[in-house]
Amino acid sequence: MIKDNLRQVQRRIKAVDKNQQVTLIAVSKTKPISDLQQAIDIGQHHFGENYLQEALDKIKALENQNLIWHFIGAIQSNKTSQIAQNFDWVHSVDRLKIAKRLNQQRSDNLTKLNVLLQINIDNEPTKSGIFPKQIDDIIVHFSTLPNLTLRGFMCIPNPDNAKQSFAKMANILKKYPNLDTLSMGMSHDLELAIENGATFVRIGTDIFGKRG
Ligand SMILES: *Cc1c(COP(=O)(O)O)cnc(C)c1O
Repeated sequence: MIKDNLRQVQRRIKAVDKNQQVTLIAVSKTKPISDLQQAIDIGQHHFGENYLQEALDKIKALENQNLIWHFIGAIQSNKTSQIAQNFDWVHSVDRLKIAKRLNQQRSDNLTKLNVLLQINIDNEPTKSGIFPKQIDDIIVHFSTLPNLTLRGFMCIPNPDNAKQSFAKMANILKKYPNLDTLSMGMSHDLELAIENGATFVRIGTDIFGKRG
């Protein structure tokens, strides 16, 4: 079942990914390790998790399988140390304080931590993320954070105007020639996201089924 679902998602991506730019992240929050293993068995490498303790258990249990782990959930500042030490990518950096802590807490013996800024692309007051007009002010500080590599941006758009929001994200990325990553698109809108320049799509439900 999971294997068939994953193959189906791979086909959907292939159908719209003209430039072969997209990497699929399997979002496995709340799902058991046996579910992840089914995806791994047919070649899935990238996994996204939202909840730290659950993620750490999975990372440990699957540590010999060469996986790439993405933290995509809300970040409390008292959790940054474990995130910095156990993940390859963090998509949900939404304030400078978090970036500074991740930089301090990333061990020197690890490769740099890949970071995306979560953008509140629709300027919604109740949502987390950096407002588009604040991006420049935050980005200048990354030159002082040697253990991080800022790679680009992530968003969760309002579904009412996802197409326009994805296009806005692509325009923002274009302003920063040294950045190369747009994390956008979930189960219901992955095609739209890819058509508008996504390089990571984050797919949970359509691979692992509904969450309880
Ligand atoms: C849960 C989650 C996803 C996956 O969403 P689906 O609709 O289940 O594909 C993607 N991104 C983030 C940030 C999530 O929290």
